[in-house]
Amino acid sequence: MPTFHEAIVDATGGPLLPAAIATVQVNIGLACNLACLHCHVESGPKRTEAMTRETLLSVLAAVRSSGAGVVDITGGAPEMHPDFRWFVDESLALGAQVMVRTNLTILLDEGHEDLPGWFAARGVHLVASLPCYTQANVDAQRGRGTFEGSIEALRRLNEVGYGQRPALRLDLVYNPGGTGLPGPQAALEADYRRRLADDWGLTFTRLLTITNMPIGRFARDIDRDGRLAPYVDTLAAAFNPATVDALMCRHQLHVAWDGRLYDCDFNYAIGLGADDAGGAHIADFEPTRFLARRIATRAHCFGCTAGAGSSCGGALA
Ligand code: SF4
Ligand code: SF4
Repeated sequence: MPTFHEAIVDATGGPLLPAAIATVQVNIGLACNLACLHCHVESGPKRTEAMTRETLLSVLAAVRSSGAGVVDITGGAPEMHPDFRWFVDESLALGAQVMVRTNLTILLDEGHEDLPGWFAARGVHLVASLPCYTQANVDAQRGRGTFEGSIEALRRLNEVGYGQRPALRLDLVYNPGGTGLPGPQAALEADYRRRLADDWGLTFTRLLTITNMPIGRFARDIDRDGRLAPYVDTLAAAFNPATVDALMCRHQLHVAWDGRLYDCDFNYAIGLGADDAGGAHIADFEPTRFLARRIATRAHCFGCTAGAGSSCGGALA
């Protein structure tokens, strides 16, 4: 089996290189109200790591200097960061589109119940994890009661116009329960649309399918019964050259909670920093230098190029 780098050279004639900085993705902290099985950043209620105000200001400066059109805020549950609302407003003030990755259930917690209306007033684009439309599968991956909480949060979001009005985008994220590749995104979206409408009267904008990456908590879990190596082989065997142009690492900058720079959040999760030529910390960020780097790749990257491909924005090809 070729390495990921060899597969890229075979497909494109050279190493994986950045194309643009369209998005600044920022992980503002690792605290989360859930502790999901597939969580590649290993977030949970006991994590306290959070981006400082000074680093958040450096991120805003990078959005300005790079001209990125999208600020993609993730965590953890980013809503739990004390500067979350300030940071959303500052990003919007720069003219960027703001995308927030929410686990939905946080919107029911004390101190966050007003967020649906707050998001709607600002036109924030919401991307919400809902790994299945059945209670059993969601609770198995994310913990008991998560499905019920997610449905209630979706109901509140629909109520303020999310997933109903074109300006209020509510995308749902699906990932498989185990080591299979996600099914075709359009077919799954149709299933989700029907089931959520019939069972709960809910609507959403788009479904994004994401492949489970063979890293972190998920990798350890499947390694226990010997499924990790075969899973990586399956991903490698499904390498699809048509996914390479759109790989998210080619179009974004990922900033970890401590300000260090990565090609993507998966590389962050395994501690694989962006090439030093790109500048190691957001405080030293310079767009031209960052775009001159070479993207750091390893075997887990096959998770992004398998089949229809996978990214924080769903399938790629
Ligand atoms: S909700 Fe998201 S960040 Fe939180 S534990 Fe689950 S996957 Fe990780
Ligand atoms: S894991 Fe990251 S670096 Fe590797 S291909 Fe995917 S987005 Fe690119």
